[in-house]
This record gives sequence, structure tokens and C-alpha cells, in this order.
Amino acid sequence: MTLSRTHCAIWAAAALVAPAPVAAQQEAPEAAPEASAEAAVSGDLVVTLLGTGTPTLSETRFGAANLVQAGGLNLLFDAGRGASIRVAQAGQTPGTLDAVFLTHFHSDHVNGLSDIYLTGYFVGATLKGRTEPFQIYGPTGTKQLMDGLQAAHSWDIETRRIDEGTPEATAQVVAHEADEGVVFEQNGVTVTAIPVNHGQNMFPAVAARI
Ligand SMILES: [Zn+2]
Repeated sequence: MTLSRTHCAIWAAAALVAPAPVAAQQEAPEAAPEASAEAAVSGDLVVTLLGTGTPTLSETRFGAANLVQAGGLNLLFDAGRGASIRVAQAGQTPGTLDAVFLTHFHSDHVNGLSDIYLTGYFVGATLKGRTEPFQIYGPTGTKQLMDGLQAAHSWDIETRRIDEGTPEATAQVVAHEADEGVVFEQNGVTVTAIPVNHGQNMFPAVAARI
């Protein structure tokens, strides 16, 4: 489990703990992440740290986001600034993500979420949009967040459905809320939410064991 009140890093995986992010000072630009273009085959678990940034604006570090590939699935944990760009650099698209998981609702963990959600419903060979509703998992408040995003972007959702034939189902959202326990089981991959103390007044917040 990782816990950093300073940089909002809340994320963990079995046998792998993401390093706490360091201050972005005089860093070389982030290289393209070396994730698998194909989702990891069953038995493998590939973790790619897509972004370890902070709310501070940085040209060299995007916001909190981690790609986990296991069981033929592409799972995104948090969607900070630039998450969609980093997903693409990792050989995927927002549309090829099977599920998105949120640890908490600090802006640096969710301010790339609109892009992940909206870009994910563009069909076609380039963006490879999803064919099913957007699946998102997170602590209590996730439904409210997604309801707000859908309301904010209702004009885009509706016009693309009418003008471009975007399948209605792909803009739909299935928000799964849980503050503790097993939240996801698919293809032999289990994700368990673990409550964490992210600081006073910052609840709920969870880590994820995979
Ligand atoms: Zn935070």
C-alpha cells in the first residue's frame, strides 16, 4: 500500500508497490511507457505507471494514472491530467480500457477522467471506441461524479449520437461504488478496495490490491 498525503499517491498492487512520486524538478520529459500493446496474457500482470505527477503543472509529468494489464484486460487506476495521452503512448486507447478504477476524488486523480470517458466512445479504427457502457469503480461518490460528467457533456453525447451515429450504449455509465472489499472479478483478475487514511477530511479513499 502506498500513502502520501503530500502527493496524493494512493495505489498498490500485489507484489508491486508504486514508488511515492518525487517533486518534479529539472526532470527529463517522460518517455513513452513500455506497456504491452496487447493486453497481458493470463498469468501475467503488467503494471505501467502512466503518470506520477501532482496538481502542479508540469511539462514532464502527467497526473496520477496506472495501467494494469492482466487476464487479457486493460485496467486503468486513476485518471489524472493527460491520462488519455499516456494510455495511447502505452499502445491502448480510452476505448480499449475494460474498466477504470478511482482511488479518491482529488483533482489530480480525476481531472483526466472526462477525456477518458468521452474519447472512449469514438468508434473507428483509430480510437477503437468501446462497444459497451463505460465501467467505472470507485469509492462512494463515484456515481455522483459520473452523473455530473454526463450532465456536463450531455450536448456532446447527444450530438455525436445523432450526427455521427455513436452507439447510445457507449456513452452510458455503469458506476460501481465500494469503499472496501472485492469490487471486481473477471478473467481471473480480482481487485480489492482497501480503505486508507489519506488525511483528515479526505474520506473515502482506497488503495487497490490486484
Ligand atoms: Zn489525494
